Amino acid sequence: MNRVILIKYGELTTKKGNRKLFINTLYSNILKKLKGLEVNIFKDMSRMYIEYDSLNEKEILKRIGEIFGIHSYMIAYKTNSNLNDIKKTISEVIETSFDMSLNYTFKVETKRSDKSFKNNSMECNDIFGSYILKNYSNLKVDVHAYDILVHVEIRKDFSYVYINEYKGLGGYPVGVLGKGLLMLSGGIDSPVAGYLALKRGIKLDLVYFEAIPHTSLEARNKVLELAKKLLVYGFDMKLIVVPFTKLQEEIYKNVPGNYSITIMRRMMYRIMEKLTKRFKGLAIINGESVGQVASQTLTSMKVINSVTNLPVIRPVACLDKLEIIDISKKIDTYDISILPYEDCCTVFVPKHPIINPNLEHCLEMEANFNYEELITEIINNLMVIDITSKESEYEDIL
Ligand code: ATP
Ligand code: MG
Repeated sequence: MNRVILIKYGELTTKKGNRKLFINTLYSNILKKLKGLEVNIFKDMSRMYIEYDSLNEKEILKRIGEIFGIHSYMIAYKTNSNLNDIKKTISEVIETSFDMSLNYTFKVETKRSDKSFKNNSMECNDIFGSYILKNYSNLKVDVHAYDILVHVEIRKDFSYVYINEYKGLGGYPVGVLGKGLLMLSGGIDSPVAGYLALKRGIKLDLVYFEAIPHTSLEARNKVLELAKKLLVYGFDMKLIVVPFTKLQEEIYKNVPGNYSITIMRRMMYRIMEKLTKRFKGLAIINGESVGQVASQTLTSMKVINSVTNLPVIRPVACLDKLEIIDISKKIDTYDISILPYEDCCTVFVPKHPIINPNLEHCLEMEANFNYEELITEIINNLMVIDITSKESEYEDIL
């Protein structure tokens, strides 16, 4: 078959020094994503080419559409780099892609990366344009309002002809910026935050705080389902389940109701810092959104954040809830997120959580109980689950 999938890189082309790393990461992500489908992938500094079995074409196009770091991708017809073969291929592309009983306008756009090719790009446009006009009476040139844009890329070894370009997801290849640990609850915000972090090239491990028996196994299952949705865009993620019950109960025994959420979140951040170190991450990521609840006022965020020096990335910090919901629908997490299972944050929610907490007060309250011992116990009793898309893997966990 002379068809290949041609991939144009995303934003990475602007990062000159890191270009190799970006391309190699994208390459290995594409290999992982296309696992099980027979493909050959070739890469150079400006493009990737995938040879494939035509039976798998639809599936491959779908999967490529789920990979970050790709600007656009298309089915391109590969041919030899000479005018006659390119013309023949243009005919093949036009005749297989359009209903030839209808009239169309067209434009030819030639890109010539092989500068030793005897005609320049403008001459090629004329040559191929005239060829099309001569052979197809139903096609007329219109360089401004065209129905068909015929792309010709002339390279040293081979040339490529293509028509339809699909828009890629953009962003950076996942992993190129190292790893972050995402605080993944069962809510709407955190899966969206995870998706946006992946888009910036951050590989993820996921952390879920659970408070069994106050929270249910269904709640954990819901988080697992959300994790699987993120796996569509991420690679090799772990879900770290944090047994939070004892510490949470201690907080509610020792801390006045209005400060309980503030202290609980300070404890979560302390645990996140330890986990980030243990799992070799560089940052904490979560679904906090400024102003959404009492613990997400700027004063609250400052007091909570002060327990760690790690960068805390909040991808949805400045989005409206409706904007977050739009993304959650797009990535198919919304219907899972709205399932009605209690989260450890909602179980103990006080009537009047403080919106302007005072750091000194927090420190005094925390001095009342030995939380460090409880945190050490938690860190020694984590459950770590490798996320895969296969159902059977989880039977013994749920
Ligand atoms: P919602 O979509 O209902 O706002 P949420 O998950 O965003 O749900 P918040 O109380 O706003 O809930 O929590 C803010 C952030 O803290 C979450 O986005 C998530 O990153 C983190 N978080 C909250 N609860 C948990 C939990 N049980 N496990 C892990 N992370 C959590
Ligand atoms: Mg929220």
